[in-house]
Amino acid sequence: MCGIFGVIGPKEPSILEDVYLGLYALQHRGQESAGVAWFDEGGALRLQKGMGLVHAALSQEQLSKERGSCAIGHVRYSTAGESSIINAQPLHATYSKGQVAIAHNGNITNAEMLKRDLESRGAIFQSTTDTEVILHLMAHEQDLPPIDALIKALSKLRGAFSIVALIEGRLVAARDPWGFRPLVIGKRDGIHYVASESCALDIVKATHVRDVNPGEIVIIERGEITSLSIPVKPARRFRCSFEYVYLARPDSDIDGRSVYDVRLKLGQNLAGTCPSPDGEMVLGMPDSGTIGALGYAVASDLPFEMAIVRNRYVGRTFIQPTQRVRQLGVQIKLNPIDKLIRGRNIVVVDDSIVRGTTSQLAVRFLREAGARKIHLRIASPPVRFPCLYGIDTPRSADLAAAMMDTGDLRDFIGADTLCFLKVEDLINSIDLPATELCTACFDGKYLEE
Ligand code: SF4
Repeated sequence: MCGIFGVIGPKEPSILEDVYLGLYALQHRGQESAGVAWFDEGGALRLQKGMGLVHAALSQEQLSKERGSCAIGHVRYSTAGESSIINAQPLHATYSKGQVAIAHNGNITNAEMLKRDLESRGAIFQSTTDTEVILHLMAHEQDLPPIDALIKALSKLRGAFSIVALIEGRLVAARDPWGFRPLVIGKRDGIHYVASESCALDIVKATHVRDVNPGEIVIIERGEITSLSIPVKPARRFRCSFEYVYLARPDSDIDGRSVYDVRLKLGQNLAGTCPSPDGEMVLGMPDSGTIGALGYAVASDLPFEMAIVRNRYVGRTFIQPTQRVRQLGVQIKLNPIDKLIRGRNIVVVDDSIVRGTTSQLAVRFLREAGARKIHLRIASPPVRFPCLYGIDTPRSADLAAAMMDTGDLRDFIGADTLCFLKVEDLINSIDLPATELCTACFDGKYLEE
């Protein structure tokens, strides 16, 4: 998972500051590196990249002084290629048709095969990201104008790719034909924006115009939007359902659905499927389980308490690079309020179980805080299969629900009861047809094209 942002409008310094702000709003989508590319007043492509969080990787002061009419930015979380500055995006290239910069969210599933083919024809790769394949595919289409070369390149890709690119002074955005990762268009005054999530439009006070459609290429220049298509006809769509469960911010809308509303509905459906007859109160694992817990509490007519407090300065646990750091992260991240919990039967709602370590440690500290019974309720189905499309869920062997049935997993975690949402209820909560959604990490139904 990564975050991408693009902007095009009149030449003014605030455009680069907008990218900085947009990336700040997308920080939850990647914390390993951040970067910005822009065309300066002289038409030269400029780049600023660094490792770490946006504020550490980029200089707001310098960016706010720069003038440019179009820019793109990226926050990275690696799923293909190691965490290093050579893989920080945007990537750029100068080839026979000019300069190109590109930033990508997703995972191209046939990248290795394409890379081997390109290398056999003389291509030399500078990074280990799958994104660089797009630049080389473009460069091999010497007879085509750059936009046509990009369309041809994208038509060869399989898997997940939402991209923003700078080509010939234009802002280009594209979403794969299956629609895996979100991508939205926004507008403020004469400035157009493209972002992974609508929360990044809010911060620059842009209006959410619409989503980029699956298979669409959008070219923005001089205030006009041109829409083209990637010439691939998929049998069905694969919009990532896990974006609604956990990945996206609740203040974002994806494909016409409010993430907040979906999470509330997930909790309500969970209460129907997984009641807790002797539960006295509902609490959510902060932050991504909180809205589901609220939905569960309302639907089951139980009080909702914010009885677990989260240290806001600790990042998301499952996307930290090592198991040891992940475990330390959980321990320093969450703290229960003992007096609310002691001697009571509690229903704890979490968004998902991936490795199971967060749930296990949480149940342990809730017991230490004096909970009598702990009913763990999960507002998504068991994650039994790895994601191939840009989310760093581990191999099956490291997925708790792939290695244990629900009873064994309950014992491993230490809860009194454990219950998961059903796949049908997940689909029902998002309110899109099953043929529009990817649920592969829950049911193993991968894209087979
Ligand atoms: S496998 Fe899961 S996380 Fe990956 S794209 Fe599909 S729904 Fe999203």
